[in-house]
Amino acid sequence: MMISQRLQEIPPSGTIAISNLVSKMKAEGKDVLAFSLGEPDFATPDNIVDACVDSLKGGFTHYTPSMGIPELRKVIAETTKAKNGIPCEAGNVLVTPTKQALFMISLAYLNPGDEVLLPDPSWVSYEAHIRMCGAIPKYVSTSFDDGFVINPDNVAKQVTSKTKMMVINSPSNPTGCVQPEATLKGIADICKDNDIIVLSDEIYENIIYEGKHHSIAAMPDMFDRTITVSGLSKTYAMTGWRLGWMIAPEADIKAVNKLQSHSITCCASFTQPAAIEAIKGPQDDMKAMVATFKKRRDLALDLMSEIPGLECNVPGGAFYLFPKYSAKIPSNELAEKLLTEGLVGVTPGRAFGPCGEGFFRFSYAASEEDITEGLSRIKKVFATL
Ligand code: PMP
Ligand code: GLU
Repeated sequence: MMISQRLQEIPPSGTIAISNLVSKMKAEGKDVLAFSLGEPDFATPDNIVDACVDSLKGGFTHYTPSMGIPELRKVIAETTKAKNGIPCEAGNVLVTPTKQALFMISLAYLNPGDEVLLPDPSWVSYEAHIRMCGAIPKYVSTSFDDGFVINPDNVAKQVTSKTKMMVINSPSNPTGCVQPEATLKGIADICKDNDIIVLSDEIYENIIYEGKHHSIAAMPDMFDRTITVSGLSKTYAMTGWRLGWMIAPEADIKAVNKLQSHSITCCASFTQPAAIEAIKGPQDDMKAMVATFKKRRDLALDLMSEIPGLECNVPGGAFYLFPKYSAKIPSNELAEKLLTEGLVGVTPGRAFGPCGEGFFRFSYAASEEDITEGLSRIKKVFATL
């Protein structure tokens, strides 16, 4: 069929592609261990599921206001204000799946030819969204030696008269790096001086082991030029619920809501009261999940340190390791080799940008048994390289 030029130029999502392949191999009966997809392996906590069941049984099964139910918008605003220091009210919140928020933000703000700065490496879908709008991604290199912390001087070097937006994502997918406050301040200054808007993806904000989460929208004079996105997927093991939000000045929320109302209309109704329970209810399950992730991170780091030819930073957040390997083989070939010879699914580093070449992403949102067995398989494949 006649697929648009715009879409023909976009590759499929690298993370989803590898996880589809892993699922296919598993369905064929192959004993594959998957460390490729970034999704918590825990069940959604019972109190949240119960709230959803109650809302379904109570007949809350029709359209909601396209921006989300007012009670949820209020709860998101109050929590974000108290926890992140972002000066927002319910009118600044649009309830929408996080990836949908990011896609709509590109459509709403970017004109063809606009340039968008994004850290290299960074999550796979930002570049695709930017390109789908005819805008131009401009990577800001980060390095293993700096722990993938962004250097504001490198940001400044990439700014031109066409720079419209900068994307930041802390804690980062794929590196797990938690950007320090001083770095975010440096970026905020550059954005203010050059009239650049910031898209801050904070979906891993609650999964932090060392360091502290800072929201750039809370910094002086930044609220009016920042769009903050977050969601329930990672914090509460709710990836399948497709529920998140964006926070921005009210006029911008109204503009983006035009896209929402012409596309998905609203999020699923019965998930929204459950989202209130997730955010306002007991947080013990969430805290236990984070503690478990930390144990798994430390286990995976220990086991990786025993694999010759692999080096890894200690990431402060999210649930990814982004090890560097010394073998002279492109990361997509390495990922293919690990999958076919080792029966282990990982994501090639190159999927996350040019600086990701020579790395792979290992999601440790998996059991300790699987992590131990998976890294033993990886070790065997590495011995043949
Ligand atoms: N941002 C980042 C950095 C992610 O890793 C993901 C992956 N889930 C998303 C956004 C999208 O989140 P969701 O699946 O909740 O839409
Ligand atoms: N964000 C997760 C990942 O990076 C899920 C897949 C996706 O949305 O890209 O694996």
